[in-house]
Amino acid sequence: MKPTQSDPTVQPVPAAVVAAVDAADTTLSNPRWAVLALGANLGNRLENLQGAVDALGDTPGLRVKVVSPVYETEPWGVEPDSQPSYLNAVALVKTTLPPSSLLERAQAVEEAFLRVRDERWGARTLDVDIITYADVVSDDPVLTLPHPRAHQRAFVLAPWHDADPEAQLPGHGPVAALLAVVDRAGVTPRTDLELRLPE
Ligand code: AMP
Repeated sequence: MKPTQSDPTVQPVPAAVVAAVDAADTTLSNPRWAVLALGANLGNRLENLQGAVDALGDTPGLRVKVVSPVYETEPWGVEPDSQPSYLNAVALVKTTLPPSSLLERAQAVEEAFLRVRDERWGARTLDVDIITYADVVSDDPVLTLPHPRAHQRAFVLAPWHDADPEAQLPGHGPVAALLAVVDRAGVTPRTDLELRLPE
């Protein structure tokens, strides 16, 4: 029997649900650019970064479009020589995943590399941070956008600028301008190393 408006089993869909579904639909048909920062200072650091790029590329609803040059970065906020230096890079991706799913995926990729999470500034096999998601601005501590320290970090700004010289950091302006004033000491291009786009 065809349900009619008087059928008590047919409930109106709440407006909030309709709005959420509509928003998800918009994302699905409208991929967004996101900028991810990658860092590794344990194990085979270049392999870890490449593994992260490949794992991200294997994610349904996510395409890695650009990978930046690789930089070597002295760790800061720790005793000198207490930790190995980092390799850092940036990946520009296009994704239909909403921000929360992108964070889940980034964390799953980190976990896959057995990153040790118990020490705030601890050494890590792989760190994946979301730097920007389209022009979304959010102070949610679970996912702060843009990443709250990106504007101060030469190891994010330098590879990001290489990958996209016109890049803008929402709320802070052109990456080129931020890079011009930030302290670049201890952040060195490693032109002998290269990341590949996923196949
Ligand atoms: P970290 O150990 O520095 O990678 O921080 C991980 C924690 O930061 C996780 O609990 C995330 O939920 C939170 N977080 C907040 N904003 C971001 C962001 N933009 N990218 C990655 N993690 C974030």
